[in-house]
Amino acid sequence: MNERDIIEILSCRNSEGRPDLLRGIGDDCAVIAGNGGQSWLVTMDTLVEDVHFDLRWHPPDKLGRKAIAVNVSDIAAMGGRPAFIFLSLGLPRQFDSAWLDRFAEGISGACREYGCVLAGGDTVRSREGVLLTVTVIGQMPADQVVYRSGALPGDEIWVSGTLGRAAAGLELCAGGGSQGDEGMKSLVEAHLDPQPRVVLGRLLAEHNVAHAMMDLSDGLATDLSHLCGQSGVGADVYAASLPSLPALHDAADLLKKNPLDLMIKGGEDYELIFTAAAAAGSRIAGIARQAGVILSRVGTIVHRQGVRLIVPAAGESEQKEVDISFAGFDHFPQE
Ligand SMILES: [Mg+2]
Repeated sequence: MNERDIIEILSCRNSEGRPDLLRGIGDDCAVIAGNGGQSWLVTMDTLVEDVHFDLRWHPPDKLGRKAIAVNVSDIAAMGGRPAFIFLSLGLPRQFDSAWLDRFAEGISGACREYGCVLAGGDTVRSREGVLLTVTVIGQMPADQVVYRSGALPGDEIWVSGTLGRAAAGLELCAGGGSQGDEGMKSLVEAHLDPQPRVVLGRLLAEHNVAHAMMDLSDGLATDLSHLCGQSGVGADVYAASLPSLPALHDAADLLKKNPLDLMIKGGEDYELIFTAAAAAGSRIAGIARQAGVILSRVGTIVHRQGVRLIVPAAGESEQKEVDISFAGFDHFPQE
């Protein structure tokens, strides 16, 4: 049973609606009708020690920042502004109060940065390891919410920043790999301290440019498959257009990994992926400048179902088309 099967069972046994629940399970956030033309966005994510983070290399302040950032990213994915944070913290019997101080510093720094406040939560003792569950409530004008379900055949697919950095950074940490070089350090930072694209998400929603949007948490292959599934469309992705840093290729060499695999399957980039009409290219370039973010056009939405990667001809080999639907990270992989 994979993650999608588990969500399917939970959602079909709990399918009762309410008129003020505008969107339930299946998008980056639940969307709840508010007053004065505003909607509330609600999202929750859990980080588990030794599954999602390793205290041997994750400094406590950066772990605090990351717990907030990965949730704020889901608010950004719909175009919203984060407002309230709730934190449930499970700590083992033995923990260090200096560690907790620095962790709390990370939480408060991230809250300041993203303009939100810690409004409540819970603390419990865990039998083993640190558990972090964060809920973020965000807000935005109801008529600007960008769902995963709006992609149309003919739309162009865009991604922010560069891909595969966090996955490479995690592998470097795990392998105790070369962290001295600036490029490699930036990969490690992408894993330890991701930066959600709140300003970009807000601008895309406000200017009504994105037809569909989500954040990249489980890798482009899986996340784009979710977006396509919700929109009832498919996608062609051009391998040659995927944005990467030179350091990613250095790291892939060092780690003996295929850089393309890191870019399409690697999780936790927390970049935004969105689709827009082909005619919106110059408006998107303007928004990229305003947000100070690089945006790359990486593919096209098509009628046919599934996500296909198009790898250009190299040397003797011909152009290849590979089905990469749901090829990214699965929290419950089939044995
Ligand atoms: Mg998401």
